[in-house]
Amino acid sequence: MVSLDEPVENAWMRSQAQCECRRETHGHPGRCRRDLVWEERGQAACPGGWDAHHEGLLAAAGWEATQGCEILCAACHQQAARRPAAKGLAARCGARGPA
Ligand SMILES: [Zn+2]
Ligand SMILES: [Zn+2]
Repeated sequence: MVSLDEPVENAWMRSQAQCECRRETHGHPGRCRRDLVWEERGQAACPGGWDAHHEGLLAAAGWEATQGCEILCAACHQQAARRPAAKGLAARCGARGPA
């Protein structure tokens, strides 16, 4: 039984729950290092929201390798994927409110 999420989990461990983005065009010097929350994966409107960025790995090499799988905060992931900012998702963030 192979978990589809295993490469993402490996990348998450490597990232130490911080954004791995190093893109110079994003305005963060060096690595972004934004603090992320595992449970907020895919929830761009959450403070700890993030997503796994694969750079075409899915089609090219399958899910075996973790190379090319980056843990990116929501802001960086949106810029990397050139998607419009997610809106209207804030209501889904109730599970983990501010302490
Ligand atoms: Zn980031
Ligand atoms: Zn970035």
